[in-house]
Amino acid sequence: LSRFTDEFDVTECLGKGAYGCVHAARDKLLKQGFAVKIVRSNDKALREVGTLSKLLHCNIVRYYTCWMEDSRYQGHITAGNSAGSFSSSQSIEDPSAKYLYIQMELCKTKTLKKWINEKNTQSLQDSKRRQESVAIAQQIVCGVEYIHSMGHIHRDLKPENILFGVDEKVKIGDFGMVTKDDDDDDDTALMERSGLRGTSTYMAPEQITGKTYDRKVDIFALGLIYFELLWKLSTGHERGVVWNDARSQKLPEEFSLTFAKENEIIKLMLREKPEDRPEAIKLMAELEKWAQTQNMDQERATV
Ligand code: ATP
Ligand code: MG
Ligand code: MG
Repeated sequence: LSRFTDEFDVTECLGKGAYGCVHAARDKLLKQGFAVKIVRSNDKALREVGTLSKLLHCNIVRYYTCWMEDSRYQGHITAGNSAGSFSSSQSIEDPSAKYLYIQMELCKTKTLKKWINEKNTQSLQDSKRRQESVAIAQQIVCGVEYIHSMGHIHRDLKPENILFGVDEKVKIGDFGMVTKDDDDDDDTALMERSGLRGTSTYMAPEQITGKTYDRKVDIFALGLIYFELLWKLSTGHERGVVWNDARSQKLPEEFSLTFAKENEIIKLMLREKPEDRPEAIKLMAELEKWAQTQNMDQERATV
């Protein structure tokens, strides 16, 4: 017996990570779509849902409810969608394990990562991409400011964890690594989960070296995201070089010429010392000012 299959029609697999799977599911009674994330229940999972349940903000994926089941939903393999298939490792799971089902707002399937990939294949005018980028950055910062004001650190901000709502608003998701700002918890699990997979980590330097750190790790990640929103990164080896340079505040020369103001803001966000990075609230004001300047320029250009 499963509350999940009793109450929902599972429509598709939206994403699958090492630790969980997120399904799109339609509530049979309400006839409304939701996203249901299924994770193995443990302290971290309970922390994720515990935090998410206390947050209510237009730039944060909305939480509805959660429940526990004895097994993980295994059915449903969407034809032609590899994200819907399951790895064999899951069939040998611990039979005593419990699973947490987290019911959330269903966002669009296009994550910020896909947005970036799409932009990079289009040859957009710089001004258009700039305006869209600052609008996105503003909304993420707004969500982050709220998270910080509630005493939490997200710790895993990256484009695949940022979604677009049906209300067209940008939504921060994946609270799988959230922590209290004053916690000194074990970070081995943290490293395993977010992993230093690939060349493009969004983790702040102090987070990687395992020193103590604070909410400024989110500001660092945001700086990299803002850079990536604007700048088409090459692939392969070169990408790694540009990325690592950016991580140490060395943005490409052409970037600093084309995007002088953004360059200035991003460099502040990427400062090596966390205390030198701006607080989210300060950034909100800064970005707001910058967005207004751009709008005025735009108006002048169209007159
Ligand atoms: P972990 O990295 O901790 O293993 P995860 O990364 O698999 O977890 P999420 O990031 O929460 O878990 O979700 C995985 C993917 O599922 C997201 O990148 C996104 O594509 C999709 N997704 C998650 N939540 C939603 C939602 N509310 N609406 C639509 N799609 C979602
Ligand atoms: Mg994720
Ligand atoms: Mg995650």
